[in-house]
Amino acid sequence: MVVTRFAPSPTGYLHIGGLRTALFSYLWAKKNNGKFFLRIEDTDKARNSVEAAEAILKAFEWLGLEHHGEIVYQSSRDSIYAQYIKQLLDEGKAYYCYMSKEELTELRETQMANKQRTMYNGKYRDFSGETPEGVEPVVRIKAPQTGAITVKDGVKGDVVFQAKDILDDFVIARADGSPTYNFVVAVDDALMGVNEVIRGDDHLSNTPKQIVVYEALGFEIPKFYHVPMIHNQEGKKLSKRDGATDVMAYKEMGYTPEALLNFLVRLGWSYGDQEIFSMAEMVELFNPKDINKSASIYSTDKLDWLNAHYIKNTPNSKLAELLSAYGLILTSHDKKEILLDALKDRAKTLKEMAYLVNEIIQTPASYDEKAVKKAFKSDSIEILNTFGAKISACEELHLPTDYHAVMEAVVNEMEIGFGKIGQPLRIALLGKLSGPGLDTVMAIIGKNETMLRIANAITAHR
Ligand code: GLU
Repeated sequence: MVVTRFAPSPTGYLHIGGLRTALFSYLWAKKNNGKFFLRIEDTDKARNSVEAAEAILKAFEWLGLEHHGEIVYQSSRDSIYAQYIKQLLDEGKAYYCYMSKEELTELRETQMANKQRTMYNGKYRDFSGETPEGVEPVVRIKAPQTGAITVKDGVKGDVVFQAKDILDDFVIARADGSPTYNFVVAVDDALMGVNEVIRGDDHLSNTPKQIVVYEALGFEIPKFYHVPMIHNQEGKKLSKRDGATDVMAYKEMGYTPEALLNFLVRLGWSYGDQEIFSMAEMVELFNPKDINKSASIYSTDKLDWLNAHYIKNTPNSKLAELLSAYGLILTSHDKKEILLDALKDRAKTLKEMAYLVNEIIQTPASYDEKAVKKAFKSDSIEILNTFGAKISACEELHLPTDYHAVMEAVVNEMEIGFGKIGQPLRIALLGKLSGPGLDTVMAIIGKNETMLRIANAITAHR
């Protein structure tokens, strides 16, 4: 069974890169009917925040990413880690190191002066003498001193690390007994049965150390997939300026979960030249072996394009529900269908859509001066008056075509072009010259509101 996990450190909000590895791990487990666990790596007490952990869960909920079973919090597993540290000490695979801070600093400085790699020198590795007084020891693991450690990586191929270049007997428990990062990650992944680790390639350099832990404890080493970073358009590491870093900010900006997930799956993974993937397709088609070897490029235009696609294809009832998160309550609007149909292919985000809807359903409070200058001619008031009177006299006005017929009647009667009525009417109805078809707008706001807006415009521009 494939068991994956997402293991964020709750030191900040969940960002796009983290979410992408979560999605990859989720899809791969789901595709294989396996398990996808969520583990909160909250051992760094100084940098953790409860809010950040909650924000991660909120983001998962918004995106519909379900994890298997209980969330594992590292902060509640100290006794488990202590047990494995003891085991390694008992088996002679780890040892207490009494080197003082001063001694370590001195060692480092000498190594630096000699242009050597800074590393622990193994002083207490096989120590049998008298241990110094007054030093709380740390626990170090006996790492291989020669040979190579090969990370068999599903994305990068075999990555070989020479023990002498990268490993020393690294600390697995600090002087206060607290376990260190690479130790707990390996212990947890092993105990949780995680056998496929998909994570950012900034963790590749940690992997040989984790392999040392796996091997010392006799645990099976999982398959690793280290995913290349996401870059901005300039080819640099993604920064806050390139887009929101907090996943929930995407919700605020009006992106749909479907668009964001689709966007993310294509950042670093491809399936031919297909761009649109439903969740079901992602689950069916995703395979970590197809993760790209090079960094992927973040493009806001692409995200907008996908979002527009999903908005356009969302059924109106669902769309109305989604828009309520942006302060737009349409439940009782009797022309909801026409309204949403008119706007769903005009908006890149839900927020923009809510704005466009409001522009239609709210009586204009002012008029775009430039547009008025351009559109209001000497005969405009007369034309609007004629149109208003005809609308007022009509009993059955419901559909856009009903309103269109009235416009046509005025055009014919007054022997004018459509623009002559269209432009001032547009100003009257919307306060500006852009927006959807006027017949649609009138059908949405209804006869009385249409008359009111025409009267307002006449008063304002007489
Ligand atoms: N906690 C690590 C992070 O948030 C991830 C560890 C891992 O995936 O192995 O970067």
